[in-house]
Amino acid sequence: MIRRPYPDHAYSEAPRARCHWPRPPEGAALDRDLAVDVAVIGAGVTGLNAALPLARKGRSVAVLDRSVAFGASGRNGGFCCLGGAKASDARLARRHGEAGRLDWRRTEKDAVAHVEALIGELSLDVDRHSEGETMLAHSPRAWREMQASADGLARDYGVTPELTPPEQMAQAGMAGPFHGALTLPIGFGLNPGKYLAGLAQAVRDAGGAVHAGADVQAMARAGDGYRLQAGDRQVTARQVIVATNGYGSDSLIPWLAGRFMPAQSAVLVTRPLTEAEAAEQGWTSRQMAYTSRDFLHYFRRMPDGRMLFGMRGALGSSPAADARAEARLRRQFASMFPVFAKAEAPQVWSGFVALSTSLAPYAGPVPGMPGVFAAFNYHGNGVAMGSYCGALLADLALSGRTGRRYPDVLKSVPARFPGGRWRRHLLRPAYALAMATDW
Ligand SMILES: Cc1cc2nc3c(=O)[nH]c(=O)nc-3n(C[C@H](O)[C@H](O)[C@H](O)COP(=O)(O)OP(=O)(O)OC[C@H]3O[C@@H](n4cnc5c(N)ncnc54)[C@H](O)[C@@H]3O)c2cc1C
Repeated sequence: MIRRPYPDHAYSEAPRARCHWPRPPEGAALDRDLAVDVAVIGAGVTGLNAALPLARKGRSVAVLDRSVAFGASGRNGGFCCLGGAKASDARLARRHGEAGRLDWRRTEKDAVAHVEALIGELSLDVDRHSEGETMLAHSPRAWREMQASADGLARDYGVTPELTPPEQMAQAGMAGPFHGALTLPIGFGLNPGKYLAGLAQAVRDAGGAVHAGADVQAMARAGDGYRLQAGDRQVTARQVIVATNGYGSDSLIPWLAGRFMPAQSAVLVTRPLTEAEAAEQGWTSRQMAYTSRDFLHYFRRMPDGRMLFGMRGALGSSPAADARAEARLRRQFASMFPVFAKAEAPQVWSGFVALSTSLAPYAGPVPGMPGVFAAFNYHGNGVAMGSYCGALLADLALSGRTGRRYPDVLKSVPARFPGGRWRRHLLRPAYALAMATDW
């Protein structure tokens, strides 16, 4: 029996039924037992980025999932951006030293470059837009802090941040309840469905298999490898890559139990908005943007004119909880973008991000399980970092080493959350506290 932290509704088709993104073509059904070099559990950005170099190096690879891009990778906001950790600079420096902190910041930048290179190499048309990413100050205090952070950001990422003062926001096409902006010229927006479809096809082209209808229910040691049970099929593999992030279970691999906290994020997409509507709203920018709140809003006007708007999702999981989260999402969209909110936005969906006690992701070997590797906990910024960590796991599986930047931050094993399978109930007081101080 698979044990997961949320009710079954969260893992059903319902939360993604109205997702805007095209669904990648399904993989072949797992209709026979397989013996492969490497089994990859999870067909999201992490799993597919791991599978691709493995297949290219001649390893036999089977990616297993209930459907390709079923998880967050097929339903995110498409911000290919810096991030992955929630830990502050001070916390990172305390735990990993100043050099370790800087190594992490540079890895964030490498992660964006990794996706950019991959998209170029595979000639993927992913509806790319936005020149880096823009953070919008939600208060005068946030604007002051933003200005004070600019020099540090320039040093960390080796780029020049652009500051937009409050009085220039309208002229920059970013009118709204914002008190200034900081743009870092790193990152871009993409269509996650197209990115995932391209990745899955590349894995197949390299000789790997991507299987749908292949939910792994159990995993056990078998000889010098592992035997995975997916329905009535068995897959034996010398090595296993676990790429389940917020959709992981507490029962498949005991080590993983309690080390990730799934939390929901929700998104809506409008019909294509006209330039006249954009001018009336005062938001003519094509930058991908987010607010400086802890509980941030993220949004971008896409190449086809549609507006995408996202924020935290429901704490619970049921049709009623989804409906309440959708109502809140629409209210907040209307309060920030009243003109845009008059347009139909039939597409609304939600999915799991994953959080860590360390406030940072993990990527590396699974202790006590030779040949098993995992990467997870990207704190809602996994498009770039998950892609990077997947490729990093492939390096480790191939040779035990990586030529990529591999900071201590990613090597630190996160402690378990208290509360076991009930740990999600910790989110309610944590959210309440964060909202009380998020001003
Ligand atoms: C609404 C939303 C908006 C987001 N917006 C952004 C954004 O704009 N930018 C950004 O960087 N990040 C964003 N994120 C986060 C980002 O999508 C994730 O960090 C990233 O996709 C994680 O990728 P992954 O491959 O590790 O996991 P996932 O894409 O979640 O994939 C895990 C897969 O594992 C599979 N799985 C689990 N258990 C099993 C099993 N036992 N057997 C077989 N398969 C299994 C699941 O079905 C799932 O497909 C967002 C997330 C959400 C939910």
